[in-house]
Amino acid sequence: MASEKIPYKTYLEEKEMPLRWYNVRADMKNKPAPLLNPGTLKPMTVDELSAVFCRELAEQELDDTTPYFDIPDEIRDFYRMYRPSPLVRAYFLEKALGTPAHVYYKFEGNNTSGSHKLNSAIAQAYYAKKQGLRGVTTETGAGQWGTALSMACSYFGLDCKVFMVKVSYEQKPFRREVMRTYGADVTPSPSMTTNIGRKINEEFPGTGGSLGCAISEAVEAAVGSDGYRYVLGSVLSQVLLHQSVIGLETKAAFDKIGVKPDVIIGCAGGGSNLGGLIAPFAGEMLRGENQYRIIAVEPASCPSLTRGRYVYDFCDTGKVCPLAKMYTLGHDFIPSPNHAGGLRYHGMSSVVTQLYDDGYIEATSVEQNDVFDAAVRFARVEGILPAPESSHAIKVAMDEALKCKETGEEKNIVFGLTGTGYFDLVAYQKFNDGALSDYVPTDEDLARGFATIPEVNP
Ligand SMILES: *Cc1c(COP(=O)(O)O)cnc(C)c1O
Repeated sequence: MASEKIPYKTYLEEKEMPLRWYNVRADMKNKPAPLLNPGTLKPMTVDELSAVFCRELAEQELDDTTPYFDIPDEIRDFYRMYRPSPLVRAYFLEKALGTPAHVYYKFEGNNTSGSHKLNSAIAQAYYAKKQGLRGVTTETGAGQWGTALSMACSYFGLDCKVFMVKVSYEQKPFRREVMRTYGADVTPSPSMTTNIGRKINEEFPGTGGSLGCAISEAVEAAVGSDGYRYVLGSVLSQVLLHQSVIGLETKAAFDKIGVKPDVIIGCAGGGSNLGGLIAPFAGEMLRGENQYRIIAVEPASCPSLTRGRYVYDFCDTGKVCPLAKMYTLGHDFIPSPNHAGGLRYHGMSSVVTQLYDDGYIEATSVEQNDVFDAAVRFARVEGILPAPESSHAIKVAMDEALKCKETGEEKNIVFGLTGTGYFDLVAYQKFNDGALSDYVPTDEDLARGFATIPEVNP
């Protein structure tokens, strides 16, 4: 079957792992809108950001002009444990679909944390250690980011305090135990250990929590403890910078086999895997060197790009973080409780937002039964059990491949397979039992979220 000259897995050599991260903002004519201080409505400075984030990460966050950042050796040493990650030609999926298209996926699930999030976790832990900090705080929803960060912190000997959205804490005890095994301290959010947590518990007794609330708790815990900073696993420009390793390796592997991808597809929660996967390709488009079709895929139940507003909004429920201009559903938007597929954040990376607004990226949304159907079909032919998040991209890659079947086009399609789904088996169980429902928010549902967007006119 796999008898063509292209190997099934296009492994790069270790020496082909990137030496530098690529900062796509350097090539953007329309820069992403700056983060604003919620008090003064002035752009945040490095000094202000450094109260919350590590100094070097604050500098990376605000740097719109430096195209490349050297990846420190200590980080590359860690990357070596699981990178370069394979770019895989999905021969069996192509055969099952009967498509003339060539479908590839970049697989980021090949590490214990099970997703691409480790690429930024290790970078953020490194800069915290370098600054001489004792530890970091963060939030986690489904748990992938918390797991990645616990691994990174245990590697560098840092304390790791994770606020885990309470419903996930209760529903995903195994995720929690992985984090504790790597030495993290995991607290269900809202907790009684922070002011904002106590306030939310009082106002909404018995609440299962939300990402926005867990972020506020983690920021409060960091700012209130000596030697701690807050770290975030998506949305921020620094995270997209670290995730550019995904795209740089993908580009290098394609160059090695002489293939140019026509369509590049990624799922979009906060935008970090997509931003990383597309970085070097978007860079070529921005510099006018090449054309690609880039598709962001989001859940129909949390449609920030396809139905959100492009405005300044808070990143968290407690309004302690800077204001970001982004496609947003409103900082109090919470997807319907039957939504099982991740990608639940109300906003979107400001880089992805600007590239989308300038027409470099298309966006589409998909419903969760279609996503799980695609996940199951993929698992049965390609062997990997995909994360539900990743399966959004699988669904659209399959749709694109089927379009090629109609037109007879031999397009090269690549998608980001961001992780594995071993901790999402409750969601798979619901799908297998036929008990997963699709819920697409009505305009009225969305209006409730939009009503929470602050009136700011910078
Ligand atoms: C967190 C996560 C995502 C979504 O986050 P982005 O920042 O949008 O990349 C996608 N897939 C997996 C497996 C994840 O863990």
